[in-house]
Amino acid sequence: TVADYAVQAIISLSLADSLDASDCLIVGEEDAQALRSEDQAPIRQAVFETVRAWRPSVTEEEMLDAIDHCDHDGSSDGYWALDPIDGTKGFLRGQHYAIALGRIENGNVVAGVMGCPNLSSDQAFPLNKQDVTGVVYAASSGAGAWEFADCDPTTSPMRIMAQQYDSNRPLRFCESAEKGHSARGDSERIIESVGTPGEPARLDSQCKYALVARGQADGYLRLPTSKTYVEKIWDHAAGMCIATEAGAIVSDVAGNPLDFTHGSRLEQNRGVICATDGLHQQIIEVISELAIA
Ligand code: AMP
Ligand code: MG
Repeated sequence: TVADYAVQAIISLSLADSLDASDCLIVGEEDAQALRSEDQAPIRQAVFETVRAWRPSVTEEEMLDAIDHCDHDGSSDGYWALDPIDGTKGFLRGQHYAIALGRIENGNVVAGVMGCPNLSSDQAFPLNKQDVTGVVYAASSGAGAWEFADCDPTTSPMRIMAQQYDSNRPLRFCESAEKGHSARGDSERIIESVGTPGEPARLDSQCKYALVARGQADGYLRLPTSKTYVEKIWDHAAGMCIATEAGAIVSDVAGNPLDFTHGSRLEQNRGVICATDGLHQQIIEVISELAIA
């Protein structure tokens, strides 16, 4: 969409403004190759107008180069993983999506920031309704996870924590709104084996990690629907950092840590299990017992 390209350009230009070139390598989801072609001129113009609203002095060529600058392959010691619009399907439906940026150093995700424009910081606000103010989450290694209400970076952030696992409560798990992105039948079997199933929270994007991080859900299950799909780093880096800094545990379905040393893809992992401490190990054991995934 226009938004994917425009956000990638804006973040790429912003990072280039404030960082040395060597600290500015970005593995981004989009490239501008298609956008440069003549038949894409109307889309290119729409992207350009969006980016110019934020930075009036930018030229079209600078904008295209900024998008293409996010073509790093993830082979260096330090780089950013950017998903300009994570959950594009949610964005198009007017539902949840996230702008997600993670920092990876020597294979560790050391920082993550995530804008959730349609998510309310009020946890009582219905998830299926759009909130106009949105919320930003940020985390860095050892410094905890923080919530900026109303997407306002100048407000004092509030520290967020994942909830303690309580076996007396029905379990609330997040999963994709898109059926094809996570095996729902497998989720049901796992949750039934672990405890009392509650209503699942189905939403697009890494907002799912934020719900666990802020104590609104017990976990986020992403169970493979195919043998061949490989998860991308930009779909997990920021969200994982926010959830782990809030005290949750993140692994693949076998219980192994997500391995960010294979470029843009999580080649050595299948699926993702994010859950509160205490619950995570039980889920991994159940997956093994039920021979899921
Ligand atoms: P979500 O909003 O959590 O459903 O995740 C959206 C992301 O799912 C997109 O950014 C895609 O990269 C990714 N995706 C696409 N196909 C699949 C698939 N078959 N299994 C898991 N994730 C997928
Ligand atoms: Mg994505």
